[in-house]
Amino acid sequence: MKFTVAIDGPAASGKGTISKRIANFFKFSYLDTGMIYRVIGLKTLTGLEPLDAVAGLNENDFNLPNLRNEEVSKAASMVAKNPAVREALLEYQRHFSRREGGAVLDGRDIGTVICPAADIKFFVTASEEVRAKRRFKELSLRNNGIVFETVLADLKSRDQEDTDRATSPLRMSADAVLLDTTKLSIDASVETAIEVISSVYK
Ligand code: C5P
Repeated sequence: MKFTVAIDGPAASGKGTISKRIANFFKFSYLDTGMIYRVIGLKTLTGLEPLDAVAGLNENDFNLPNLRNEEVSKAASMVAKNPAVREALLEYQRHFSRREGGAVLDGRDIGTVICPAADIKFFVTASEEVRAKRRFKELSLRNNGIVFETVLADLKSRDQEDTDRATSPLRMSADAVLLDTTKLSIDASVETAIEVISSVYK
């Protein structure tokens, strides 16, 4: 059976954790589409042309080191503005969304562009302050020289890039369920999401 869950939202909103837990609960396949842009961003930092990086995309690349660091985040956001890159990645993501047994995809444009007919859509968000605190905690585990103000500024600028770009900007789809994790814990958000999905996935 095919069943698609589309999850969008800004950086550090909790969408990755929520998506993984939903996928785990329902035994759906999971694709973190941000990782695709991160891999392409990382490769452009080594001098590769973005479309060549797309052509050479390989699932093993998702395990490359440093994909979550700030330099790669910025490079990902830069390549994500390129309409030719987004177009070249469309079919891969759509194909994944139609996997037998169900699929969860998370990103910025899943409910709006990649899977407009998804069975369920969520938009996960939280205040800038809360998201920056989460990202700061995550980055501090790997680097204790991290400064909170820098993390907050980087997050704001990446949100702006993602929201203001012309192609597939970050938007909540009109038919998406909003999960605001500012006050709602991730556990409670997962529970809500599971309830919503269970009401249509039998
Ligand atoms: O989700 P994550 O923060 O890992 O994504 C990294 C970057 O990739 C985002 O800031 C955004 O620019 C880009 N992205 C995108 N569309 C997606 C997923 C990620 O443009 N579906």
